[in-house]
Amino acid sequence: MTPAAWPFSSAELIDDKLHDHCGVFGVYGHPEAARLAFLGLYALQHRGQESAGIAVSDGEQLVCHKGMGHVQDVFPREVIRTLGGGHAIGHTRYSTAGDTDLRNAQPLKVSCHKGQVALAHNGNLVNATAIRKELESRGDIFQTTSDTEVILHFFARSRQAGIPEAVAEALDKVEGAYSLVMLFKDALYGIRDPRGFRPLSLGQLDGAWVLASETCAFDLIGARYLRDIEPGELVILDRKGVTSLHFAPPARLAQCVFEHVYFSRPDSVVFGRSVQQSREMLGRYLAQEHPVEADLVVPVPDSGVPAATGFAEESGISLKIALIRNHYVGRTFIEPEPAERDFGVKLKLNPVRSLLDGQRVVLVDDSIVRGTTSRKIVGIVREAGAREVHMRISCPPTVSPCFYGIDTPTRKELIAATHSVAEIREFLGADTLGYVSIEGLRRAVEDTQGRYCLACYTCEYPTAIQEPLIAIRNRE
Ligand code: SF4
Repeated sequence: MTPAAWPFSSAELIDDKLHDHCGVFGVYGHPEAARLAFLGLYALQHRGQESAGIAVSDGEQLVCHKGMGHVQDVFPREVIRTLGGGHAIGHTRYSTAGDTDLRNAQPLKVSCHKGQVALAHNGNLVNATAIRKELESRGDIFQTTSDTEVILHFFARSRQAGIPEAVAEALDKVEGAYSLVMLFKDALYGIRDPRGFRPLSLGQLDGAWVLASETCAFDLIGARYLRDIEPGELVILDRKGVTSLHFAPPARLAQCVFEHVYFSRPDSVVFGRSVQQSREMLGRYLAQEHPVEADLVVPVPDSGVPAATGFAEESGISLKIALIRNHYVGRTFIEPEPAERDFGVKLKLNPVRSLLDGQRVVLVDDSIVRGTTSRKIVGIVREAGAREVHMRISCPPTVSPCFYGIDTPTRKELIAATHSVAEIREFLGADTLGYVSIEGLRRAVEDTQGRYCLACYTCEYPTAIQEPLIAIRNRE
């Protein structure tokens, strides 16, 4: 197969990675709630870079500020000063191009007969389109195009007198992935869907309670990690302390394994396990499953570093940082013009010729999505003089799109969905190519009880998927 024959001219991107849609954060009972939310979101910035928002409560009123851009751009000091109150929730959002709209930035704040409420969501509801159609046919008006809004509609419609009961009734109607933080004037709720797709952790700081998508947010503010919110659990944080309710019967767990493969920060503990440890183990199993005679192990920075470390330790081949990443290249720097796109990978990664020249190189990365960027990186390493390039990927081939809050391209664009490993190797221009197996992946995250979702590697989805979603993601 020649590169010219490859069907990706219009889909080629610099950043050929999967993205999560969101990170969420909450704090109850701290005089500097907005500042803590800002710092929490700052630590969760990798979970979404297109918009950010914080809602605060002073015990009487909710105030919300949202904007497009990175957390520090949306929240300069003078804005944070205006957000007074002891309770807050925050959200960072990633969206696809056509979906970039301040209307969809979160938290979503509404007033209804149950009072004011603000909601921030990480995940994706698989039945939101059908629900929305039905509600719209009954006269409901939606202010966003986000799936999250249906939860607020059901909450507002509920005839349950109590707020926890009304929340539980709303959640009973939605299906899919949701880790939620909900702010009321005098309480903060933390919620995880019954399958536990997305993480959500509970911590404590100076007597205040904090919730975050990842524990790295606790580290930044000096909070102590207490535990994960359990799948199907609704935790109420208010002046009585912590109240735990289970709003749904136990379901088969489907924690997103991709959080460990790529998405979460390596310094986080996710689903009760160190992400760094999982990634190093992935590298070790990769070395066991796909050994190779080579001189150097080179990570594709930054996300390939932990797996490359594991590969090097297991194989005994020395690790060299022979690709240097420029951290100051933003996604917006490159306009989507074909000529500039080739240039983009070089802008982002530069090889260290003195390390690579004449060497047999094992190049370790965490995933291949479309393959376009990986091909360019192999080319860069060869141009720098490498004698052999052996590509090793610390996850199985990505063959199916995600419907649970990771932004994946259509099935057609996933190179492994339509091509064999041998064909992909040829497209990349690598001497050999090896992916870690499904069994290796499960061992690396210590999944002995089938608690993880592996659907992007197996096509076996843990929930029914709504027809329109399937049509969009699987279109040929
Ligand atoms: S399909 Fe993949 S990315 Fe989506 S939740 Fe499952 S494992 Fe995670």
